[in-house]
Amino acid sequence: RQSLKIGLIPADGIGKEVIPAARTVLEALGSDIPKPEFIDLLAGWEVFTRSGSALPEETVETLRECDGALFGAVSSPSRSVTGYSSPIVALRKQLDLYANVRPVVSVAATPEEKPAVDLVVVRENTECLYVKQEVLTHTAQGKEARATRLITERASHRIGKMAFDIALGRPRKQVTIIHKSNVLSVTDGLFRETVRGVPAKYPGQYDSVKLEEQIVDSAVYRLIREPEIYDVMVAPNLYGDIISDAAAALVGSLGLVPSVNAGDKFVMGEPVHGSAPDIEGKGIANPIAAIRSAALMLRHLGYAQGADRIDVAVDQVIREGQVLTPDLGGSSSTNDVLNAVLKKM
Ligand code: NAD
Ligand code: MN
Repeated sequence: RQSLKIGLIPADGIGKEVIPAARTVLEALGSDIPKPEFIDLLAGWEVFTRSGSALPEETVETLRECDGALFGAVSSPSRSVTGYSSPIVALRKQLDLYANVRPVVSVAATPEEKPAVDLVVVRENTECLYVKQEVLTHTAQGKEARATRLITERASHRIGKMAFDIALGRPRKQVTIIHKSNVLSVTDGLFRETVRGVPAKYPGQYDSVKLEEQIVDSAVYRLIREPEIYDVMVAPNLYGDIISDAAAALVGSLGLVPSVNAGDKFVMGEPVHGSAPDIEGKGIANPIAAIRSAALMLRHLGYAQGADRIDVAVDQVIREGQVLTPDLGGSSSTNDVLNAVLKKM
């Protein structure tokens, strides 16, 4: 690539404060990556209130021509509003971003020490109960609600393959399938069998990856008690949603945890946190989750060197503990943290 075309969608609240910080960090990488070219795009609650669309057509069309994107956070109305639906859910569908990848890593006291928590949740992003086929019927005994839970071989295979590929790039090379096939033998059974079957389809390629599995409820229990047993956890949509938030709680602040939504052709970085209306406009939002999301986006695009430079700088800032935002007990601003990271780079 001659240049990297990156769509920026700050959206609402502190998204507008942390995405510009991530942009500045990408610009500071210089020759580690092709020259970034940024395109500002709209989505979210604010543009909905102005235009009636939470995801303008132009945003999706422009993203299709980008190499990657960074998404901030959206505010959602507390009650259901006619015509409004989450742009992030729509984007995942329209750009076929079938995986949500969330590394959860704590920072050890010294660079030599192993972090206490170092795992990646790989969540299927397109099906399971999130196909949102819910039906309410009225029976003689009262109301009855049903939902469809869709698990396909195709989606289970591609998410499984992504988990194996991610494991290959990590020192421990271990994949744990999360499921509940002891009860849901047909749906979770298909997910489990399909992921187990990935290595057989690529002879030799995944020989070094160790495959484990765990029932979802005990997986959450063990995740909280002994997170060190996990490396890459791969799960259907709903379990993955819950596990990835539980895992994020292990490292202290929402302001630290990045994610990407990834497909075969496109990747969109997204901090895990929301629009944080309680601190919006105060200049104290922690930009680290957004900055790490930019690094993760680069990793998925194949620019590991640039990603490492960002992550190492962020680790140093956290480890020194001199420049931290209030969510981590400090009194520094978003800009102070950004400048500290830039200095380390
Ligand atoms: P939130 O993540 O916005 O905030 C939860 C708490 O964490 C708040 O006290 C907030 O100040 C703090 N926090 C979050 N990010 C921080 C950061 N970078 N630095 C410092 N502190 C940070 O979750 P919420 O309050 O439940 O939701 C607020 C709004 O965001 C809602 O409208 C919700 O729907 C939306 N939301 C959006 C996303 C998304 O865009 N993916 C995710 C979660 C929530
Ligand atoms: Mn969630």
